Amino acid sequence: MAVDSETDLRRAIYGGDEIVPFFQPLVELRTGQLTGFEVLARWQHPAHGLVPPSEFIPLAESTGLIGPLVQSMLRITFDAATTLPEHLTLSVNISPTQFHDPSLPEQLALAARRGGFPLHRVIFEVTESALLHNIDQARAIAYELKSLGARLALDDFGTGYSSLLHLQALPFDEIKVDAGFVQSMIHSRESRKIVAAVVGLGNSLGLVTVAEGVETKAQADMLLWQGCDFGQGLLFGSPAPASNLNRLIAEMSQPETTIAADSPSERSPERINLRPNQQLAQLQAIYDGAPVGLCFLDRHLRYASINQRLAEINYLSVAEHLGRHISEILPQMFQALEPCFLRAIEGESIAGVEFVSLGHAPGKRGDTFLISCQPARDEAGEVIGISVSVVDITEHKRYEEALRTSRNEHQQLIEASAPIPWSPDGDSGTFTIPSRW
Ligand code: C2E
Ligand code: CA
Ligand code: CA
Repeated sequence: MAVDSETDLRRAIYGGDEIVPFFQPLVELRTGQLTGFEVLARWQHPAHGLVPPSEFIPLAESTGLIGPLVQSMLRITFDAATTLPEHLTLSVNISPTQFHDPSLPEQLALAARRGGFPLHRVIFEVTESALLHNIDQARAIAYELKSLGARLALDDFGTGYSSLLHLQALPFDEIKVDAGFVQSMIHSRESRKIVAAVVGLGNSLGLVTVAEGVETKAQADMLLWQGCDFGQGLLFGSPAPASNLNRLIAEMSQPETTIAADSPSERSPERINLRPNQQLAQLQAIYDGAPVGLCFLDRHLRYASINQRLAEINYLSVAEHLGRHISEILPQMFQALEPCFLRAIEGESIAGVEFVSLGHAPGKRGDTFLISCQPARDEAGEVIGISVSVVDITEHKRYEEALRTSRNEHQQLIEASAPIPWSPDGDSGTFTIPSRW
């Protein structure tokens, strides 16, 4: 470790402005617009150069210097942020040890007041370890910070002692998805599922979700697809000193440099206007009201969902289908169409297979259905199940059958009839048929 001396750290905090804030952009994934910055400490050490926080924050925490360090850094931060446009926020990290100091809200409020920066534009980030030892005290501090107008973020969610209890115990406004999951989500199915679960949890609790460590467009696209609101990482900008702040804001406000996951013209209107959970509600309504039978089978061919129409076609309730294998519900159909389902699970689209059910009376033909199977893929292209549509074409088939029968009868009638003799009637252009006809 480059820095291990408390005296050195004390001098840096009290003596000069050696511990300075760096600013990392936070961006709305849907539009690519800059929404604020996370403030990250750096030590501009006279001998060691730029020292990262991992090398001095633990020392500051263990020596009780973290409070003065943050105070000193906030002073420089708010000075630098006087020209920050009003719609931009600042996210400030608070150490777990600070979260046990009952005077913390007052200290932070004082720093903001002195710097002339309103607390409603500040988001305080805490990790779950801040809540481990004395959750009641943490809760009291959190509520006090909220009453001062500040917002609260749960940092590094998914690592350490993650517990849903913490999410419920404190009035969080946002969850930050840890960079480790974000970075491995493209190649690791598990990470992808964890990110999807955290984002889904955030959405359903009405919390803003922020992904950290976004380095590639593929990650940003996947996060957007999963419904994540904001991103932070090298793709959008690395932490920069205060002297770069105005240039960074100007650059990121240029439409051509905003890094949206797609260009707006490529996006469909519903992706622009609706959040994924709203899209889901809209799709659910269409699904339930569709006159066509629809269901979703998981990879093991169990009903994950089914709409009302298909439940009626199968003469069972929606609930009676869920979780059950298709062979249990429709043994005869499964026997006939199993290869189609298996091909769909392998990724093939199967369109318009006709299936005739057994008639209710012996020897009687049943209803006819047109069945299509479409593989459903997750954001990484893996087949996670199949979407099945079922159209009852019995009436159409009966009509076709009746038409065919009538055409045949007509044909037979013509064929059974003797040829009618006729002869041209001179030059008049008419024909004469003998009177016996
Ligand atoms: P953090 O709060 O999770 O901050 C995010 C870290 O991810 C930062 O590391 C940031 O520079 C880094 N990062 C940003 N974009 C990317 C990316 O695309 N890829 C990767 N791999 N990393 C990225 P940094 O600045 O070294 O800070 C490390 C940790 O130190 C922070 O983690 C935070 O826990 C702590 N820290 C920093 N400043 C302060 C502070 O003022 N007070 C307290 N209490 N802790 C601080
Ligand atoms: Ca943080
Ligand atoms: Ca973090």
